[in-house]
Amino acid sequence: MPSNRRHFNIPVFIPEEGCRFQCVFCNQRQISGRQTIPTAKDVVAIVEQHLATQPVDAEKEIAFFGGNFTGLPIERQKQLLEAAYDFYVKGLIRSIRLSTRPDSIDTEKLALLKQYPVKTIELGVQSFSDHVLQKSGRGHTAAQNREAALLVKEAGFELVLQMMTGLPGSSVIDEMNTAHCIISLGATGTRIYPCLVIKGTALEKLFREGKYKPQELWDAARLIAQLIRLFEEAEVKVLRVGLHPSEGLINGSSLVAGPFHPAFRDIAETLLFNDKFRQIPLQNDQKQNLTIKVAPSSLAAAVGFTKYNKNQLLNHFGSVRFIPDNNLHAREFTYSID
Ligand code: SF4
Repeated sequence: MPSNRRHFNIPVFIPEEGCRFQCVFCNQRQISGRQTIPTAKDVVAIVEQHLATQPVDAEKEIAFFGGNFTGLPIERQKQLLEAAYDFYVKGLIRSIRLSTRPDSIDTEKLALLKQYPVKTIELGVQSFSDHVLQKSGRGHTAAQNREAALLVKEAGFELVLQMMTGLPGSSVIDEMNTAHCIISLGATGTRIYPCLVIKGTALEKLFREGKYKPQELWDAARLIAQLIRLFEEAEVKVLRVGLHPSEGLINGSSLVAGPFHPAFRDIAETLLFNDKFRQIPLQNDQKQNLTIKVAPSSLAAAVGFTKYNKNQLLNHFGSVRFIPDNNLHAREFTYSID
């Protein structure tokens, strides 16, 4: 039964050192801002630091993010898992989650994870199109994505599949197909990352040579809004959209180009409401006033990032008011024109 307690992830970044690949878009050291794989002692320090600031009664999960957890030597994995396990035994965390590559999954590796309270495994599948995976230097195939996802499910873990948009060679069709594959493989959650050009990556070289064109910010947000809708309809939770500002890009020092925005999800949510508001018959009569009611938690998205939706509607009405209504949920809305 799902718990009503607030949930906190305690992120522990595992940088590229555990990974023998060089995906064209990745410079994990710059994104995570860390140079080396944390030791067991580091894990304890990171977790204790987070526990000190999080509400005691909240549900907490240690999340080994970044890189390729199951690609680490077994002894290293055990050390990190043992450090996390101590917090579990003391009742201070509820579970562990980790992210890894699809080609670093096999039954033996999953059996090790089963010995610990690992609940969720996130696979960075990125795309289900082989030509995109190949151009992106991923070093695995769409078939490997499928096999790994099935193994994770069979072993009884919760499955989260991470995808990227705007990868070299990728089209909207490829990205919609990837979303459909994620849904059909039974993922309970997803993360969607628009591809960014980061300093020091192979993609930066391609970009500077004019061989790679990143997505425009609003195009990427429009596409991701469509993906969010698709995932929500299939009850796949969209856990994250875009790179988090704390992940080393907020000052733009590592960012060369691409659709990065600290409020990326807000822009996508704005566009989801923008689509819904197409049901409103436009008046082109400045004497008519529009009132829109939405769930209180959706008010900002309905008005829109930088009032995008409100300003568009103001081209057609004398005034536009947004009112919170506790009877409405998510993106439900009602409207009246007087
Ligand atoms: S597998 Fe992950 S860590 Fe390794 S290069 Fe690719 S994106 Fe970076």
